[in-house]
Amino acid sequence: MAKQKIKILVATTNPGKMAELSAMLDLDVDWLSLSDFPDVPQVAEDGQTFQENARKKALGYAKATGLWTIADDSGLVIDALDGAPGVKSARFSGEPAPHQERCLIDYRNCAKVLDLLKDVPTEKRTARFVCSLCLAKSEEILIETQGKLEGVIAQSPAGCNGFGYDPIFFVPSVGRNVAQLGSEEKNAISHRGNAIRKLKPLLAKLLETADYAD
Ligand code: IMP
Repeated sequence: MAKQKIKILVATTNPGKMAELSAMLDLDVDWLSLSDFPDVPQVAEDGQTFQENARKKALGYAKATGLWTIADDSGLVIDALDGAPGVKSARFSGEPAPHQERCLIDYRNCAKVLDLLKDVPTEKRTARFVCSLCLAKSEEILIETQGKLEGVIAQSPAGCNGFGYDPIFFVPSVGRNVAQLGSEEKNAISHRGNAIRKLKPLLAKLLETADYAD
């Protein structure tokens, strides 16, 4: 008898993230998002590391829904700031007001980084984007991967694409800031793209061999 198609929950309500992940994994899976589970309580992202947050979300939502669940956590790590903003990347310049527009929060976060680094020379402005992914079922972690993108915090913003810290993150290997890249160019080198590319063969193998009816 043919194996039933597995349902996998992606722990996000962001349709862009959902589309990116399912397209890059390109596996025979029924993908669901948290928008399909409006009554499931939110899992707090209060871990000390990206990996801890990804694990916490994957395990929490897997337990709440009974589904295999993929969760991610990502952010910016700046060496001259001892790893900040790190897991606080989304709210580095303070807790956003309710319904505050994303681009204004991003602008404030970038401005804070540039201000903190104003006296730091280029060679000491090294940084990386990091993305941790975790796939879990009920109380078991099945797969974990991590992707990185190494770069340098620019002296000033450039580019209008992307989001978050993209305008101030210069990638020496391509000679441009991330916000100057198209989405495919970014995916090909990004921390999230790298973490997803590592996950794909591991998940494909697991789907071949696992008995996921339980
Ligand atoms: P999340 O875990 O994907 O929600 O990311 C948390 C925060 O990290 C975002 O709000 C951004 O500030 C920052 N971040 C994560 N990924 C990126 C990226 O690809 N470009 C720029 N900023 C990012």
